Amino acid sequence: MRKIWRDALDRVTPYEAGPPLEEVQRELGLPSVLRLSANENPLGPSPKVVEALRTEAARSHLYPDGGSSALRKALGAWVGVDPSWLIIGNGADELISFIGRAAFEPGDEVVLPHPAFEPYSIEALLAGATPVASPLRGYETDLDDMRRRVTARTKALFVCTPHNPASTLVRRGPLRGLIESLGADPPLVIVDEAYRDFCDAPETPDGVALIRDFAQVISLRTFSKIAGLAGLRVGYAIARPEVINRLNRIRAPYNVNRLAQVAAVTALADRAHLERTRALVLAERPRLIQALRQRGATVPDSQANFLLVKVGDQAGALRQALMKGGILVRDGAGVGFPGHLRVSIGDAAGNAKILEIWDHTVGR
Ligand code: PMP
Repeated sequence: MRKIWRDALDRVTPYEAGPPLEEVQRELGLPSVLRLSANENPLGPSPKVVEALRTEAARSHLYPDGGSSALRKALGAWVGVDPSWLIIGNGADELISFIGRAAFEPGDEVVLPHPAFEPYSIEALLAGATPVASPLRGYETDLDDMRRRVTARTKALFVCTPHNPASTLVRRGPLRGLIESLGADPPLVIVDEAYRDFCDAPETPDGVALIRDFAQVISLRTFSKIAGLAGLRVGYAIARPEVINRLNRIRAPYNVNRLAQVAAVTALADRAHLERTRALVLAERPRLIQALRQRGATVPDSQANFLLVKVGDQAGALRQALMKGGILVRDGAGVGFPGHLRVSIGDAAGNAKILEIWDHTVGR
């Protein structure tokens, strides 16, 4: 029999993103549903972005700028690096796959926290490499454990800060210590900073500073969260030009569409909107954490735009009750935390509603 499909595919299950919002609304018979399961921006995109998209729509017959050069220029100024340090992807997701395709080979080991954002292990498996799981210590990334798992076969380490789904920060000093300890012939260190824009802890690491000091570091960031462009798919990697050059060999000619590029450039220009988003999350996050802790829930200190909430036996019932009330949250069991819910930070009204339903279901 002719063998068509690669064996590596047998080890991967398709990523389950959940049903489309419209379908959920229809099934629940509700006019609107508040999705707090996907860590989206509660304010939506900037109105200036929407306006720019309207204008740009008429130019949809033209191929986009293949190298996203205008966006890299604007982003370089924003991040404080030369545009040659940037590559834009169809979401940060695409950049994880570029790294896998550019670097991972059968026999390689890829050290990653467990649980963690699933695409890390999926890309390792697709490349025929072996994911090496480092269990979280409670809700924290255990850098010492990750370090102990590094061998001569280690091709890369993934560090997610703030961590999805645990919401916790990897602190700057220990992260730098880990990278230093890897020595003169180190593996890649991918620092996934998708939620960095919501950090306010003084110990927040800065991928760019790490890249300046260590040539093997790649930082991943995204417009999906802070800029509210999840539906357009724009993420980016920051790395030394020689690393970016390698990743560019994988990139399809027009990987980021015209509307996405225009939206991202416009989003960067509307700083007030980015700041409003950050201010909302930073104001609501401690309030929601405190309210849930007062109700007896265990909630790790989140530095992201979501919380991981330990509910225990009632997690399923609470998720169902929230759904009936028109609020979708992520089942922790689906992301490696049974008995937990992952809840995106909404606006004040959304968060008040969560607490109201909590009090009815779990009790005060
Ligand atoms: N990394 C982490 C940790 C994420 O949670 C996400 C989004 N869910 C991504 C990367 C990918 O972001 P994007 O929407 O830019 O593909």
